[in-house]
This record gives sequence, structure tokens and C-alpha cells, in this order.
Amino acid sequence: MILDMFSLEHKTAVVTGANTGLGQGFCIAFAQAGATVIGVARRSMQETREKVESVGGAFKEIIVDLSSPDAISVIMEQCEKLCDRVDILVNNAGIIHREDAKDVSEADWDKVILLNERLVFFLSQAMANRYFLPNRSGKIINIASMLSFQGGIRVPAYAASKSAVMGITKALANEWAPYQVNVNAIAPGYMATNNTTNLRSDAQRSEAILERIPAGRWGTPDDIMGAGIYLASKASDYVNGFTLAVDGGWLAR
Ligand code: NAP
Repeated sequence: MILDMFSLEHKTAVVTGANTGLGQGFCIAFAQAGATVIGVARRSMQETREKVESVGGAFKEIIVDLSSPDAISVIMEQCEKLCDRVDILVNNAGIIHREDAKDVSEADWDKVILLNERLVFFLSQAMANRYFLPNRSGKIINIASMLSFQGGIRVPAYAASKSAVMGITKALANEWAPYQVNVNAIAPGYMATNNTTNLRSDAQRSEAILERIPAGRWGTPDDIMGAGIYLASKASDYVNGFTLAVDGGWLAR
């Protein structure tokens, strides 16, 4: 049956930034589709655990600061202990730094690039070498942004990093598609999460953004769940290197 293609039964998904926002949304969605979820975050994921367990899912966790130099080795070591194999990786954790381009320091630039760009590539590489390429099977979902397509205002490092995410997605897809490893991205539009708290509390910017969204509202973590399940499941086996916008029509305008 067609809906079986969307099932994640017997799959294990690793989701970074799983304690909140979109990451939490992916965890709940994957659990509902039958996957075991391993959340990665630098602090408690109790709320996510409760939400995953409330839909009958299994949740395991890895606590690590993703900006630390040993983050990837910690994740890989923990995965060895927590599961037999990883089938799905969602590179969701990300930070944004808002400041006029003329004032951005090298340190602030580097923090954003390290987490949003460098980690996406090297965690994907580690997972691919350990699981996806030898297993001839795997799904990587990178979280891009409207600023993979546009420049934004006062977020130059973020725009650079999210443009890179779209490039990394295509580059990895080209090399790994022959091994039945699908690498794709989701570009969320303007979503009501911690990432946009400052933006939403700026009345002028908030109104200007809302006016420009054809759907007429900010997105929520629920809105990315369908795209997440699609790109994590068999339903997307012939989709490679694509960045899927879930944006209420923002890019169409
Ligand atoms: P969020 O709630 O701020 O989520 C970001 C996640 O990344 C949090 O779990 C955060 O953990 C985690 N994180 C940040 N630095 C970390 C570190 N050093 N170590 C471990 N975890 C770290 O916002 P969100 O909107 O859900 O963001 C998720 C992804 O979507 C990000 O990549 C973001 O760029 C992208 N995105 C969001 C929007 C939007 O409108 N919201 C639009 C486009 C793309 P803490 O809670 O500990 O900080």
C-alpha cells in the first residue's frame, strides 16, 4: 500500500538540536512513523522525550555541545552503544547571529560557520562512512533556510552557512546517490521557534515578514513534519540533492 512507503518502522533516526523547535518536531514525527529516535542536544531533552513517548515512540539521547571539538566522536561512540545501525540523520541544530555586517567579529562569524556548516559536512561524513555507505542505504536531511536562496538582513554568517548547506546537500548527493544514500534538505520559511524570537518581538520586522508570507502566518514545527517523513522514508528514494522549501509560499512571491 502506498502509505507503507512512508513508514519508518525498524529505522533509527539521529536528530541534532532535538530539545526544541523544529528538531523536536522531527523527533515526534519520526516516532509516529515508527522510528527509534536518538536526540542530540547540549542540554536536557526531557520535553522531547515525553512527547515522543506520549505517541508510543522510543527515545534515546546523546548530550553533547556540538561546538566542541570532540562532538562528532562523542556522537559516533554513543551511537555504537545505543543502536545497531543508524538509518536517518537530520542535521538540524543551528544558530543565528544578528548584527550589522560592518560590525560582525571573526569569532561570531566562526561560531555560526562551525555549527551550521562545518558540522553538517563532517557529521554527515562520519555517519556515511560508518553506516550509510557500507549499508548501501541511508537518508540525510539537512536543514537549510530561506537564506539558502536569499541574503537576508543583518545575518551575513547565517546566510553564508545556509547557502553552504544547500551546496553541501548537492555535493554529497552526487557522490552518495550510487550507494542508495539520499541527501536532501528542507528549507523552512519563517517559523515560530527560538530561532526567530528576536525577529518576532521586533514589531516592524515581524509585520513586514508576515505581510510577505502568502499563507498569512508563521510556520510551526508541525508544518515541517510531512516533509521530514517524506525525505526520511522510502517514498523519496529517487530524490537526490534537492532542497524542499516549506515556507507558506515565501519563495514563490
Ligand atoms: P531553535 O529552537 O533555536 O533550535 C536550534 C537547536 O540547535 C536547539 O536545539 C539548540 O539547542 C541547538 N543548538 C544550537 N547550538 C548548539 C550547540 N552548540 N550544541 C548543541 N545544540 C545546539 O530554532 P529552530 O527554528 O528549531 O532551528 C532549527 C534549525 O532550523 C536551525 O538549523 C535553523 O537555522 C533552521 N531554520 C529555522 C527557521 C525558523 O524560522 N525558525 C527558518 C529556517 C531555518 P539550545 O536550545 O541548547 O540552544
